[in-house]
Amino acid sequence: MNCPQTDSRSGRVVFVCQCLLNANAKVCGLAKYPGILPGLVESLAEQECGLIQLPCPELIHLGPKRWWQSRSQYDTPAYRGLCSQLALDASDLAGQYLSAGYSIAGVLGVEGSPSCGVEEVYDSPAWGGRPESVDLSGCRVKGTGLFVETLKEVFADKSQNIPFVGIPSDVKEMNRRLALLFGNTTS
Ligand code: SF4
Repeated sequence: MNCPQTDSRSGRVVFVCQCLLNANAKVCGLAKYPGILPGLVESLAEQECGLIQLPCPELIHLGPKRWWQSRSQYDTPAYRGLCSQLALDASDLAGQYLSAGYSIAGVLGVEGSPSCGVEEVYDSPAWGGRPESVDLSGCRVKGTGLFVETLKEVFADKSQNIPFVGIPSDVKEMNRRLALLFGNTTS
């Protein structure tokens, strides 16, 4: 790290998807905690990571009263354009940290999200038209959310080698994945 070592900083940051630190960004009806995902900040503090909160593309696109939507419904040129713009901003910031010698431990996505899922997303060709209750069985499928997909592409284009981890709602599984990310078994 080029920054003179005259203070207590760790030189390590992690990108965190918006709603992991702010449940108020989520679609109405889906928040499982009041504000910050319990245990996440404590785990990252143990790893001496600073947190960079990514913007919520769905909130910017459709606001806080948006309907639930599947990945396929979000997959439009306009939404992809927004994701690209936000991803480029994140990559520019990452570039500044990296060129100054900081390390970026990873990007923490939200498993299952049509935008921020890393390995799983909600998707179904049947969703669309007039809002109605939907049967979620079979809708959680393997895939990458549109924002995470774009972030991966933009980081790769700039040779920014940053790992992605999908954070699940289960705390034990979250801690297991964070332990893997940080190469230890404590968290
Ligand atoms: S788009 Fe991403 S940050 Fe926004 S609510 Fe969905 S998972 Fe959270």
